[in-house]
Amino acid sequence: MVCRIYKMVYPLYTFHMHKFISVVLQLLNVKFIVDSMLGNLAKYLRFMGYDTYYAKNDMNDNEILKICKSENRILITRDYELSKRCNNSVYLEKHELDYQLKYIIKKFNLNFEKVLTRCSLCNEELIKIEKEKIRDLVPENVYNIFNEFYICPKCNRVYWMGSHTKNILLRLEEIKNDN
Ligand SMILES: [Zn+2]
Repeated sequence: MVCRIYKMVYPLYTFHMHKFISVVLQLLNVKFIVDSMLGNLAKYLRFMGYDTYYAKNDMNDNEILKICKSENRILITRDYELSKRCNNSVYLEKHELDYQLKYIIKKFNLNFEKVLTRCSLCNEELIKIEKEKIRDLVPENVYNIFNEFYICPKCNRVYWMGSHTKNILLRLEEIKNDN
């Protein structure tokens, strides 16, 4: 009898366990793919340090869905029909960046621990670099004022805590406090 119940319950248990583990893994290492209508959101998710694939205009729906599945990314889209074709998707109704970001932060419980660790242009993780090595890559006044620099290993863009970066941090701080 016990054996029969076990046989009935065990497959269910393992099925849910696998599902549960995959959900937990996804929450720990949440990655996104964002459609071409959400360029600003993609940038801000990258500013927050989240791995975010930006699907440009020339990508068709099938290509987007393929990457979503093969790389285990959550699709964020403003295309309702596209969102219906993917189990792992979020459809955003509104256009405003603040609304979109707050919604995604809340839904996936995103944190602010890895802010400004990723290149906003190409999604690569930034690397800290010695000041001497970027002398020719930044304006002279920037070189003279700042001492801490980060570089993107893919596009070689250099990041420092200038006014542009501070504005991004301020905006993220506002969104964080408002959430
Ligand atoms: Zn880059």
